Amino acid sequence: MDLVEIWRNTLLELEVSISRANFTTWFKNTFILDYKKGVFIIGVPTFFVEDWLRKKYLDHIKKALANQSGAEVESVKFKIATPSPEQVVISDKGKFIHSPVDKPEKKPEATFGKTLPQNSTLNSYYKFANFIIGSSNQLAVAAADAVSKKPGKVYNPLFVYGDSGLGKTHLMQAIGNHIVERDQDARVLYVSSETFMNDFISAVETGSGRAKDFKNRYRSVDILLIDDIQFLSGKEQTQEEFFHTFNHLHQNNKQVVLTADRFPKAIKGLERRLQTRFEGGMVADIGTPDLETRAAILKQKSKAKGKEIGDEIINYIAENIKSSVRELEGALTKILASCELRECTPTLEMAQEILGGIIESSNKLITPDSIFKEACKYFHISKEDLLGRRRTKELVVPRQVTMYMLRHEINLSYPEIGREMGGKDHTTIMHGCKKVEAQMSQNPRLKNDVNLVKEKIHNT
Ligand code: ADP
Ligand code: MG
Repeated sequence: MDLVEIWRNTLLELEVSISRANFTTWFKNTFILDYKKGVFIIGVPTFFVEDWLRKKYLDHIKKALANQSGAEVESVKFKIATPSPEQVVISDKGKFIHSPVDKPEKKPEATFGKTLPQNSTLNSYYKFANFIIGSSNQLAVAAADAVSKKPGKVYNPLFVYGDSGLGKTHLMQAIGNHIVERDQDARVLYVSSETFMNDFISAVETGSGRAKDFKNRYRSVDILLIDDIQFLSGKEQTQEEFFHTFNHLHQNNKQVVLTADRFPKAIKGLERRLQTRFEGGMVADIGTPDLETRAAILKQKSKAKGKEIGDEIINYIAENIKSSVRELEGALTKILASCELRECTPTLEMAQEILGGIIESSNKLITPDSIFKEACKYFHISKEDLLGRRRTKELVVPRQVTMYMLRHEINLSYPEIGREMGGKDHTTIMHGCKKVEAQMSQNPRLKNDVNLVKEKIHNT
């Protein structure tokens, strides 16, 4: 039973229901100290935290632990203890540590600058060899493969975008690992754009010596891999610095690879000149994998964990969990963990029992209100504006996308949509839906908007 992984997944589940500020305050530096016979012992930093968690979140924690471990949870106890570095899931700074890759970020002081061991930010698990190719990621893999063979020469930059959990980080690091394998001296730097920003800020704050270190760190590499660039949206100074870093590397034929959750032009708050630069190389998307690919991924993951698991179960998971590879993997882990605990081999019945809850929630009921909510969030507009009558350009597209969703996701008729959308005429609705349908194939931006809103509707 991987207690760190279980706690990480538990916290990811809890994070959704607890406000961000509270969440960090109460859960940083907590960890699973022990699990025995239905009792989880959670290590906490102080009595104060212990008290608070017990009073406020005990039921939440118990439920999430049961969900994530697949184990019976009789009780949850607390004990004051300090986690080892491997056990930390949320660091002092409130950062979620998702994988060993993220760990160097915990101590920017120590890793910053020249002392950084080369290529240390790559996770050796992320290889091309264990990345399953399907129609959803074919183009991105082909581009990544080409870049890894001729860095700086074919597509520069390479920009890979797609929803969360579909393999962007894996693919990006596979490029890095491949290059390092072939050339030990290649300087590959993988960082999240958040780390880039934090490094930049600490360089500025601490003055010229650090600023030099910063430039050294980022401009002396052969390959720069920057993950989740959408995070820089609205961060103007960091963008400015990134622009110069990018130009410096690009001019010297050094490879830059970027990922984001959407394509460059769709990242609001990202400077135009950066968008243009990003589009100047190769832009490739990763979509949701089809059934066959999902099954192949599950097979490969169970093999990697040294566990054989029957086709029946693989197909059951693959048919029911569709939106992200990360979730697919989570489901598999849950089943395997539960089997380990019960000391049995997985059966279909068990898989159904364990995944029942997750599957139900992913097939949840979609309502006009949930569509409005996600559309408003995605387009950054209010519900009044969405349903209102003002006909400015910023509102027309969100409105039409919403009409399209009501039509295609819950099959409402044009007059019904008209009523739901604040009393609009059915011809207006028909026009809106048809327009989206017609333009989707020609307008990648619109297609991207539609896909992302759809994803949110189904998954939040
Ligand atoms: P993203 O960065 O897009 O959010 P990740 O790269 O972190 O997604 O992928 C999430 C998990 O899914 C990782 O464990 C990764 O190894 C796995 N994964 C995603 N796509 C594939 C694939 N095509 N083949 C094998 N594993 C995959
Ligand atoms: Mg990622």
